[in-house]
This record gives sequence, structure tokens and C-alpha cells, in this order.
Amino acid sequence: MLKPRGCNASGHRGWYEVKCAICAKKLYLGDDIVYQCPKCGPKYNLYYCQADAKRLHMKCSFCGSDLVLVVYST
Ligand SMILES: [Zn+2]
Ligand SMILES: [Zn+2]
Repeated sequence: MLKPRGCNASGHRGWYEVKCAICAKKLYLGDDIVYQCPKCGPKYNLYYCQADAKRLHMKCSFCGSDLVLVVYST
């Protein structure tokens, strides 16, 4: 369950690193709380950190859809 993250940047498994679309903060799926637009997210690979999701009132900044919590399981 607990694995060191960022130990091998390329090709590591278990942790999937993404960036917040607003502040470019590094987010780790499976570790951090990450939100995504159900429409734009899979299409454009957009993720939001918790702070920005709150700032956006849980709405996508591109299409206005409600953001959903990304559930990532290994
Ligand atoms: Zn952010
Ligand atoms: Zn959207």
C-alpha cells in the first residue's frame, strides 16, 4: 500500500503523476486528492488539485461541468 513515490520517474508503476491544469502543481493519483472534469478530463488530460477545484466551486473552468473526484486504484 505505501510505496515511495517519485523514486523512478520513468516507467514507474503504482503512482501516476499528473499536473493541476490551473496551478501546475504535481498531483499523485492514488495519493493526493485529484479532481477531474468528466468531459474534458479524459479528452485533454486535465486534472485539478483540491484547492483549485474548491476555488472553481467544483466546476470545470473550460466547460462548467461538475468536477468529480478521481478514483484511482492500482
Ligand atoms: Zn491547482
Ligand atoms: Zn470540462
